[in-house]
Amino acid sequence: MAVQTTTPTSTTTGATAETSVDLGPASALSCRECGERFPLGPIFACDQCFGPLEIAYDLPLGDPESLRKRIEAGPANIWRYAPLLPVPADVADKPNLNPGWTKLVQADKLAGELGVEPGKLFVKDDSGNPTHSFKDRVVAQALEAARAFGFTTLSCSSTGNLAGAVGAAAARAGFRSCVFIPHDLEQGKVVMAAVYGGDLVGIEGTYDDVNRFCSELIGDPLGEGWGFVNVNLRPYYAEGSKTLAYEICEQLGWRLPDQLVVPIASGSQLTKIDKGLQELVKLGLVEDRPYKIFGAQAEGCSPVSAAFKAGHDVVRPQKPNTIAKSLAIGNPADGPYVLDIARRTGGAVEDVNDEQVVDAIKLLARTEGIFAETAGGVTVGVTRKLIENGLIDPSLTTVVLNTGDGLKTLDAVAPTTGPTATIRPSLDAFRDAGLAH
Ligand SMILES: *Cc1c(COP(=O)(O)O)cnc(C)c1O
Repeated sequence: MAVQTTTPTSTTTGATAETSVDLGPASALSCRECGERFPLGPIFACDQCFGPLEIAYDLPLGDPESLRKRIEAGPANIWRYAPLLPVPADVADKPNLNPGWTKLVQADKLAGELGVEPGKLFVKDDSGNPTHSFKDRVVAQALEAARAFGFTTLSCSSTGNLAGAVGAAAARAGFRSCVFIPHDLEQGKVVMAAVYGGDLVGIEGTYDDVNRFCSELIGDPLGEGWGFVNVNLRPYYAEGSKTLAYEICEQLGWRLPDQLVVPIASGSQLTKIDKGLQELVKLGLVEDRPYKIFGAQAEGCSPVSAAFKAGHDVVRPQKPNTIAKSLAIGNPADGPYVLDIARRTGGAVEDVNDEQVVDAIKLLARTEGIFAETAGGVTVGVTRKLIENGLIDPSLTTVVLNTGDGLKTLDAVAPTTGPTATIRPSLDAFRDAGLAH
């Protein structure tokens, strides 16, 4: 559907003039706080109450069976869900990294170690995306919005994975990219962010400093005409996380899981997984029954977990200090919404320390052959903790998200992982090493 956009009136939009855009079923932007509606455009905050904006849809309500068939006949990537996303109908024909449709692994050996019934525990392994993290999903949406609004430069503030996903998507789609990261990220993240040939800028500060810098840049002529995927394109970007919910349900045979364990950085992913699950119910694609969403943080950056445990509605910012750098957002924008969802669904928010993160990475690797980045160590570690303290029911279906690849955070496990032995190339030496059994 062609929708009229506003001509930019304020410097905070960073918009280029564009008269109409085609973003498929997306019909408007709506304020999550006051409900005020705005035409689709590169804006992210309500001009009435400053609340965050999200996409409103004309969802394809109708016969669920034919929608299900249409989805199942679609490509093996996120575009199978194009009727539910802010993208044009012909999105699959455009140059794009086509992420998604990653594996849902039935994790029986991990289940055995955690005391979960066989067949009940699954790992949604998003390390299989083109740049090895879940961020390819959100960037793919932002890219389509950037195309629709006429931006030619893609940018972002990143804790690491997003910078790589933007760099790669921009390279493939023929955009310029200039991305911003904290200067002290893991080498794997820095190399991934730089190798695609865009500009990469290290900022001397935390992610929250980088994010503040980008907000200033958007309001300045220096950033004019730039699409910041997680700032002025954030409403579109955020919708990409819904595809995780869609895939999990479809891969379970069009069924809602009972319990989900989701990592929290800004909290956007968790809130949109909930939105995605609710849409599937509304569309009649899955049967309506209760599910619980659990949020996972690292102890060294646990503002949402701290607020949850204290019974607070507001999230007090922290200065991050953890090996789980991809989740190290001390002032998470969606924190209060995460608290609402965890409480409404009967879930919880929990955290684990760095040592538990490393243990959980190794546990997942040795039980299921999945090498997760630190964020995956956080979700697996939190799952273990929540089972131990009785908040996750081991007799129900649980899906744990692994959102990134362990090759990007080698430093986390390198000090405690290595060869079992180093020997001379002789049978005697091997026999002496005591490994021949
Ligand atoms: C960005 C990221 C997340 C979640 O981010 P949100 O800001 O909460 O949406 C989770 N895992 C990894 C590995 C990430 O890079």
